[in-house]
Amino acid sequence: EKVFLNGEIVSAEDAKISVFDRGFLFGDGIYEVMVQLENGIFYKKAHLDRLQDNLNKIGIPYDVKNIDDALEPLLKASGLTEKSCLIYMQVTRGTAPRKHSCPKDVPASVMMYALPYALPLINPKHMKAILAPDFRWHRCDIKSISLLGNIMANEAAMNDLADEAALVRDGMISEGSHTNIFFVKNGTVITHPADNHILNGITRMIVLALCQNLDISVIERPIGEDEIEHMDEAFFTGTTTQIASIAILGEHQFYENDNIGKTTKRLQETFAKLRTMDTSQ
Ligand code: PMP
Repeated sequence: EKVFLNGEIVSAEDAKISVFDRGFLFGDGIYEVMVQLENGIFYKKAHLDRLQDNLNKIGIPYDVKNIDDALEPLLKASGLTEKSCLIYMQVTRGTAPRKHSCPKDVPASVMMYALPYALPLINPKHMKAILAPDFRWHRCDIKSISLLGNIMANEAAMNDLADEAALVRDGMISEGSHTNIFFVKNGTVITHPADNHILNGITRMIVLALCQNLDISVIERPIGEDEIEHMDEAFFTGTTTQIASIAILGEHQFYENDNIGKTTKRLQETFAKLRTMDTSQ
């Protein structure tokens, strides 16, 4: 396995960083995940733009063009040119003596790798999700590598033999531990607005655009925990999740067997067609 580390492609065993890296010490960094499918890297530009925005938000001076340029050589070295794969990348504020104030003139640490990854055209799962308290901070719009809140919620789901946790803040459902969440009521798609309490997922944005193309009305507002039982359908979205139908959320069962709601199904089928196009630009 090959790793791109600070401008070089090395084997995984040789990819070493300092214990004084601010990513390691403080979780002071940003990450991104994308997938390469049949027609290239799925929404590559959208992912790289989000990475750049996030780096700008926290003031790490780094130009993601360097990552863009490194993608092809990394995939080649990894034997993954034109193959289905997952690409993980992270940029931290670099290595400096441990103190809170940000170092000046220290280069960012940049790491990226790719591994083979197959994604079915449509996510076949009927997700079972728990409700978990959203005790994360108030800047969930930042794709921070500090994911403790997300990991603890996801682990609670795993311990309950569920697939995902939907997070609840002040009685409102924000998002999943590593996904966005959508509801459908009387044919209208409802999802939390892209504010500081959720990550504005690339898949979320794609789904909203698909709704517009399909003339499905959309409302961006938080859904209360007490509204779940009144909703007709629900689904999670994410880069590796794509669109995953939710069968059970907390105490509420949306459907039995494989009876996916019709709006969810329609969006899944339309989403699958995007893979026949080049969405990388
Ligand atoms: N919310 C959170 C908290 C996430 O970690 C992710 C996945 N990175 C998402 C939403 C979905 O984002 P995307 O569609 O860009 O993968």
